[in-house]
Amino acid sequence: MPDNLLDGLNDKQLQAVTLPHASALILAGAGSGKTRVLTTRIAWLIQNGLVSPNGLLAVTFTNKAAREMLTRLSAMLPINTRGMWIGTFHGLCNRFLRMHNREAGLPTTFQILDTADQLSAIKRVMKLLNVDDEKYPPRQVQSFINNSKEEGLRADRVEVYDRHSEKMREIYAEYDAQCNREGVVDFAELLLRCYEVLARDTALRQHYQERFRYILVDEFQDTNRLQYLWLKLLAGPGNAVFAVGDDDQSIYAFRGARVGNMQDFRADFDVQDVIKLEQNYRSHSNILDAANAIISHNRNRLGKNLWTSEGGGEPIRIYDAYTDQDEANFIVDEVKALHKDGIELSDMALLYRSNAQSRILEHGLFSAGVPYRVYGGLRFFERAEIKHALAYLRLVINPDDDTSILRVINFPTRGVGARSLEQLQEAARAQGGSLWQAALAASGKIAAFVALIKSMQEACTGLPLPEMMDAVTQMSGLRQHYSAEKEGAERIENLDELVNAAIAFMSERDENTLVDFLTYASLEAGEHQADPGRDALQLMTVHAAKGLEFHTVFIGGIEEGLFPHEQSMSEANGLEEERRLMYVAVTRARRRLYLSHAQSRMLHGQIRYNIPSRFLDEIPENLLKRLNARPVAKYQAAYSTQEFAATPRANASNAPWKVGQGVRHAKFGAGVILAYEGGADARVQVNFRDAGTKWLALEYAKLEAL
Ligand code: ATP
Ligand code: MG
Repeated sequence: MPDNLLDGLNDKQLQAVTLPHASALILAGAGSGKTRVLTTRIAWLIQNGLVSPNGLLAVTFTNKAAREMLTRLSAMLPINTRGMWIGTFHGLCNRFLRMHNREAGLPTTFQILDTADQLSAIKRVMKLLNVDDEKYPPRQVQSFINNSKEEGLRADRVEVYDRHSEKMREIYAEYDAQCNREGVVDFAELLLRCYEVLARDTALRQHYQERFRYILVDEFQDTNRLQYLWLKLLAGPGNAVFAVGDDDQSIYAFRGARVGNMQDFRADFDVQDVIKLEQNYRSHSNILDAANAIISHNRNRLGKNLWTSEGGGEPIRIYDAYTDQDEANFIVDEVKALHKDGIELSDMALLYRSNAQSRILEHGLFSAGVPYRVYGGLRFFERAEIKHALAYLRLVINPDDDTSILRVINFPTRGVGARSLEQLQEAARAQGGSLWQAALAASGKIAAFVALIKSMQEACTGLPLPEMMDAVTQMSGLRQHYSAEKEGAERIENLDELVNAAIAFMSERDENTLVDFLTYASLEAGEHQADPGRDALQLMTVHAAKGLEFHTVFIGGIEEGLFPHEQSMSEANGLEEERRLMYVAVTRARRRLYLSHAQSRMLHGQIRYNIPSRFLDEIPENLLKRLNARPVAKYQAAYSTQEFAATPRANASNAPWKVGQGVRHAKFGAGVILAYEGGADARVQVNFRDAGTKWLALEYAKLEAL
């Protein structure tokens, strides 16, 4: 056993790693070694016989982080980490429910609805209840349900104060009933169900409380109410919870994360030790100073100082692009040049605030032949052909899964018309059963579908997973369907990739049943793209980058409206949350950081003109290197008249003002002209940095050109 586990830790880190058996909070800034301390503590506890690998539970934020933790642990200790309870909240709750499905009232083979499946299930419920989806947009209903669950509230406990919320509650109740009938659970349900079982079943709770004497939580600042309550239940009296977190990196408020959990934790768990780590080991000081400067503009902070013994390092590079295309070209060229200089692609990351920004970047990378991998976004397991195949596989183990039936009963087309489908749904409703139950009594095309699923079930019995994938994609007719499609080749490749995914899945872990595989597909979707062995540039949203680090980081689209996101302006504390996101983004970089913004970009089918983000102004100029400072005149020349003509309101050729031009208004401050209407009452639409978008009559608004 190596005895150098503790070598190289600083005093505070050492103190944290070797704390006695009591609850503790490690509150520290980015890159100060929180995750490293947590992992080392696990190894240290085991090495010193204070706990067996089975006696502890550790929660991380992403599956990627959990995997990394297991890898690091195996390197530190000669133990088999496979059975250890280290994972995400969702992953651990899933595991618990698989073991105790009877207590939880779930079928052994319960399936997990991902976000898209959940939405379609909600739409079905709404149709059934005859709810107007204009008045109750399904996505809004979805957030309502998920938020309620994350607060730990079932429909009967949700507060209602008007007709609207009453209706929401009704949909929620009916949706839950439908999930129960079908034996499926959504993400939030995993946690809530697990929590309820533990709360109800004293014997079970005591069993786990006795088992997990040590509980460790990374990224504690982003736990929501329910996760916190779950931890509290599981920890019980006398157990030690070791929580590490950074209030400045709380970026999931929109999903119910509560920084207040940190204060509650200190009181509820009688925390004596709060340790602050202040030395940053990740970044050069120019990067760290920029991050500190940005976050210092937030008011509600617990307060920490971060310093590094590293030198200043390189300046932060700012690129001012004309268009999003220009920005993408710049990034691609830099990536290529850095790679040529020996920096691995996988040690470089391209971060963006919104998923929609990735398309043009991906396109640029693809054209330039730079391998890249996207984390999040349209993931392998979310692609249509894969979802179809997975739906068939789900039916093999649980034909009562209505969502899956609806997805594939007529895909590939087999002549099941809308009419007969409606009849089937009515029959199911009348019987109070699943579609499958009703289908068993049907004739014609539907009976043929039933026969198909039954024959798949037979064919799959006893088959190893990869062969099962093959059998199902063949028998379902999916392969044949796509091979006849003009652009089906890529889809067939993806179906082949499913076989590879099953092989990789089996070799990575001890599990090998179809239920295990489908669970993995729902939980791990997208955290690794196809082709995992290859060196590739990492693309992801800032949210997905939490906890990670890279030699070089590019952050694109540092513009008002994008980052900070326009939606944040209308939310309480929205801007502070955006700033924390910016802090997270900047602190991912070890050595080199690029920030870029474009004067115009195509988003959601429209050209938008944004001004540089206020976050750029918050970084001291002496830390920056502007790669291409350019005069305003050129700025306007960037837009062709043709682009303006596409917007009927803007008439650029003979207008006194030009779309895209920077202006200043005495009251509203700086902004950019979005549109212009000529004539007697000429007016302009301006996107103001601080005041939002406004129409102004030119006669009165004294605008000054910037
Ligand atoms: P974040 O807030 O971004 O999650 P963190 O606080 O979890 O960051 P880590 O990821 O654990 O920080 O550590 C940041 C980097 O510093 C890692 O590369 C880690 O290996 C390194 N590091 C941490 N402590 C030390 C140390 N005592 N000596 C040398 N390197 C260290
Ligand atoms: Mg960390």
